[in-house]
Amino acid sequence: MEKILQVSHLSKKYHTLKEEIEALKDINFSVSRGEFISIVGPSGCGKSTILSIIDGLFEKSSGEIKMSDNISISYMLQDDCLLPFRTILDNCLIGLEVTGNLTSESRQYVIHLLKTYGLEKFMDQYPKHLSGGMRQRCALIRTLATKPDILLLDEATSALDYQTSLAISDDIYQIIKKEGKTAIMVTHDISQAISMSDRIIVLTKRPAIVKKVYELSFDSHLTPIQRRKTKDFSSYYDQIWRDLDVHI
Ligand code: ADP
Repeated sequence: MEKILQVSHLSKKYHTLKEEIEALKDINFSVSRGEFISIVGPSGCGKSTILSIIDGLFEKSSGEIKMSDNISISYMLQDDCLLPFRTILDNCLIGLEVTGNLTSESRQYVIHLLKTYGLEKFMDQYPKHLSGGMRQRCALIRTLATKPDILLLDEATSALDYQTSLAISDDIYQIIKKEGKTAIMVTHDISQAISMSDRIIVLTKRPAIVKKVYELSFDSHLTPIQRRKTKDFSSYYDQIWRDLDVHI
């Protein structure tokens, strides 16, 4: 598969007035087109920092991020960040507006996405009319509107209750696969990572290094919820739980 992103020897130190925080130390991984990759690790180990550096929001301290030509990235945050005074359609058009790419064609593409993914009836309504799961689906469509090659998902369902989180993880997975996108997801939720990913990168606690990489071998027809019912799922869970060395 075509490699579209290569992260090499990535390190990051934050400097505050009081201290230096070494978040990342020599992180290496590559991403191929169409892959769904999850990064898991203890809270505060530097997962979100990796996404922010890939997206260009934060400077790296050293190392290299190499991207193939013409690869675009879009970041979906933990909070859906929908503006309450804009309709669902207008919320989904924001990225196109601010990048100067709003045309009748790109607008039609967003309407097509809203129709395909069950939000047609809500297009002219406001975020307060949507359930938590629908809001997250709307945030995903806003992220897809600019036709990015790679989606960065940061704890995309952690603000939702458990049942909704399972359902929306299924939705997000199926939409990303159907649209042929590449995804890098950061999560503290081992089960979510196993249910959605082709590959999982396990980080150590801070300063984070890559502890282990899992290539998951589930039947490609299984949805995230169906994966959860397999034997392999529990076995991956046990292994990653041990890797994270969580003391209660
Ligand atoms: P994770 O996503 O794994 O929870 P983060 O990438 O958010 O971890 O943060 C990694 C570490 O870097 C944490 O200890 C956090 O407090 C610190 N950190 C994150 N952002 C900043 C910042 N802007 N300034 C200083 N320290 C930061």
